Amino acid sequence: MNLTVLGSTGSIGRQTLELARCFDDINITGLAAFGSIDLIEEQIKEFDPEICCIYDEKKASELKNRLGSGTGAKVKIVSGMEGLIECATYEKTDTVLISVVGMIGIKPTIEAIKAGKNIAQANKEPIVCAGHIIMPLAKKYGVSFTPVDSEHSAIYQCLRGEAGNKIDKIWLTASGGPFRGKKREELKGITPADALKHPSWNMGAKITIDSSTLVNKGLEVIEAHYLFDVQADDIIVAVQPGSIVHSMVQFEDGAIKAQLGSPDMKVPIAYALHKEHRVNYDGKKNLGFKELSEIRFMEPDLETFKGLKLGIEACRTEGTLTTVYNAANEECVSAFLAGKIGYLDITDGIEAAMRAHTVIPEPDLDRIFAAEKEARTFIKDRYNLN
Ligand code: MG
Repeated sequence: MNLTVLGSTGSIGRQTLELARCFDDINITGLAAFGSIDLIEEQIKEFDPEICCIYDEKKASELKNRLGSGTGAKVKIVSGMEGLIECATYEKTDTVLISVVGMIGIKPTIEAIKAGKNIAQANKEPIVCAGHIIMPLAKKYGVSFTPVDSEHSAIYQCLRGEAGNKIDKIWLTASGGPFRGKKREELKGITPADALKHPSWNMGAKITIDSSTLVNKGLEVIEAHYLFDVQADDIIVAVQPGSIVHSMVQFEDGAIKAQLGSPDMKVPIAYALHKEHRVNYDGKKNLGFKELSEIRFMEPDLETFKGLKLGIEACRTEGTLTTVYNAANEECVSAFLAGKIGYLDITDGIEAAMRAHTVIPEPDLDRIFAAEKEARTFIKDRYNLN
């Protein structure tokens, strides 16, 4: 397989390349990152891709200068959104793993599908904001579209062999984050350092904060809605501390299928890359009686974690509200990480942005990006972030 990894310096990207190192059938044709040129320089030397996008133009020319001076690499360096799309649609590539963070992944996802590439999707936002455009497009172009998010990969795995059988409910599991069991009042003084300690998954900073507020689960409800064509009210969020049950599907006869395993993103990554074939890999961790006997499920506390409640509301409403939910959260989380707003301001800000927005149903890309801009401006004005 000729694989391009968009977001190769992030957590999922790095784990994908660790897998690529173990498997002879994966040839890396393209890499892309925002601006971490030290790491991507090493990746270029090891994996010898033909094209590499550094989104940040200055960093891209710095990398070009470095590579020009005797490393022997023949890679074409591109930059910006145009470069990211060139990388995503590179002719020799057959599969694109998209693990960039944020709405930046929307256009490359769409263009890669149009170019006939199979997609391994780890980037939530294209599905959350433009799922109504992307899912029909993937069908139209006949490309495979495999989720890499652990919960959605679990659902996808449960649905194998179930063609024609109606989904009754999706049980979307959640770890509950580091503040599970706390009340809203107790979350007031939470600092970025507190929120960056996730109990079971090892992830990037933005998604770790999202897991602590349960906004990540709200985004995942929306993701599941578009990926599997299931209504918001048929998606049950179940807290399962320890993240052993990755999600479950309940069918019309009451039967429930679940996918379980150690919390390790390499399983969904490898499953997506190997076209649903299971492979052994270095560092695999098997579950035992200890982990399995500790499984228990709880209902989420939607009053304390209103980020999830708002996500379910956005999912029910659809249209531009899913984009507002996401973009307001992105702005709030970066302001929180920069120490500019408090922890509870994140979900208060999202709620206010959603209330201020007039929803447009079935938005095209221009309307999606306009809603994004509106939400970002709303948060910046609300918290004086300029
Ligand atoms: Mg997930």
